Amino acid sequence: MFEFSDRSKELQDKLLAFMDEHIYPNEAEFKKQHAEGDHWSSPPILDELKAKAKAEGLWNLFLPESDYGAGLTNFEYAPLCEIMGRSPMAPEVFNCSAPDTGNMEVLARYGTDEHKKQWLEPLLEGKIRSCFSMTEPAVASSDATNIETEIRREGDEYVINGRKWWSSGALDKHCKIAIVMGKNDPSAPKHKQQSMILVPLDTPGVKIERALHVFGYDHAPHGHAEVHYDNVRVPASNMLLGEGRGFEIAQGRLGPGRIHHCMRSIGVAERALEAMVARAKSRNAFGQRLADMGGLRQEIARSRMEIEQARLLTLNAAHMMDTVGNKVARREIAMIKVVAPNMACNVVDRAIQAFGAMGVCQDTFLASAYANLRTLRLADGPDEVHMESIAKLEIGKD
Ligand SMILES: Cc1cc2nc3c(=O)[nH]c(=O)nc-3n(C[C@H](O)[C@H](O)[C@H](O)COP(=O)(O)OP(=O)(O)OC[C@H]3O[C@@H](n4cnc5c(N)ncnc54)[C@H](O)[C@@H]3O)c2cc1C
Repeated sequence: MFEFSDRSKELQDKLLAFMDEHIYPNEAEFKKQHAEGDHWSSPPILDELKAKAKAEGLWNLFLPESDYGAGLTNFEYAPLCEIMGRSPMAPEVFNCSAPDTGNMEVLARYGTDEHKKQWLEPLLEGKIRSCFSMTEPAVASSDATNIETEIRREGDEYVINGRKWWSSGALDKHCKIAIVMGKNDPSAPKHKQQSMILVPLDTPGVKIERALHVFGYDHAPHGHAEVHYDNVRVPASNMLLGEGRGFEIAQGRLGPGRIHHCMRSIGVAERALEAMVARAKSRNAFGQRLADMGGLRQEIARSRMEIEQARLLTLNAAHMMDTVGNKVARREIAMIKVVAPNMACNVVDRAIQAFGAMGVCQDTFLASAYANLRTLRLADGPDEVHMESIAKLEIGKD
């Protein structure tokens, strides 16, 4: 059976205590300060909590096999990421939020010393944030070979032209750098046409055009932006790894990013089940507690079974990433990327049902959690694309 290291267990205890003491009690304060302050800037409570988390060593817990961060394996990090996932504000408090973790991994693995100094260090310190610009409105972006943004070399510079959307985090005033994926050579073999390049968001020609909403939520201060890269010029040294190597980086980036989303989804599901049980025990209808009604008991049992299944699958994927590498673990990563968000959507949906009308309004975390989880069946690749990869591996076995 799985056993976590002493280090992971110690961090789990510390994180749980931090969540109880500082995160849950400040969720309402975060919302209040955000409503009163600058819409696209983190409220002051976030900086206060970040300083506390840093002082307690609860900082940069991701980043396996690296000189940076806490040096934990994916397996050791899994329960920690799950705990953070229980609150939407928590991952940033511990400097472990998307898309920064994925971007920091890219910079740590593929960045030059100069990139690391300029961008990775302030990201690791939590002073700035970053975004990832791959998806485009004009093409089916679940197939990244469709991407049309042009990255053209001109002397010592690259010129970038293209329209992106769903660049999560780009609206945040602390977001200073984008990793942009585009094509530098459309005549090269299919998977060698793409590159990734660093674009500081204050470069002339970067136009943040609008905030996209998720079922009406704008996810401020983070947000999801439509961005027009209009004749944006950056030094040639901003290219990551080299021309034509964008796909290679994408494979490396999306593995850890995907598993982090799954871990956080399990945390949300666990919190939703807790809320559902508490509600069912405290409310009566037709002469009995909701918790004594057969239908709801079945839903509670089903939720517990599904959470445990998804957690075991996620831990297995994390273990494989640590032992055989992200490439060999691609089937396991694909499986949890489908299983965990679907499971969490279902559990939250049942919790909403148990809460009655209260479940769909702003008085619990459930409605916004559902909206957020639903997007994970699309973001980082839709379910069907991952299932296609699993099917390909399964059918191609013989
Ligand atoms: C909240 C949110 C945050 C996001 N953040 C980012 C980000 O930070 N950066 C970024 O670059 N992108 C981001 N995305 C975009 C996301 O990665 C894309 O939406 C996703 O890759 C799908 O691309 P698409 O929307 O173009 O859908 P399309 O490629 O047009 O696909 C539409 C549908 O077609 C079907 N389909 C596609 N391929 C197959 C197949 N092989 N088999 C069967 N059916 C298939 C699926 O049902 C799919 O949902 C985000 C999206 C959301 C919702």
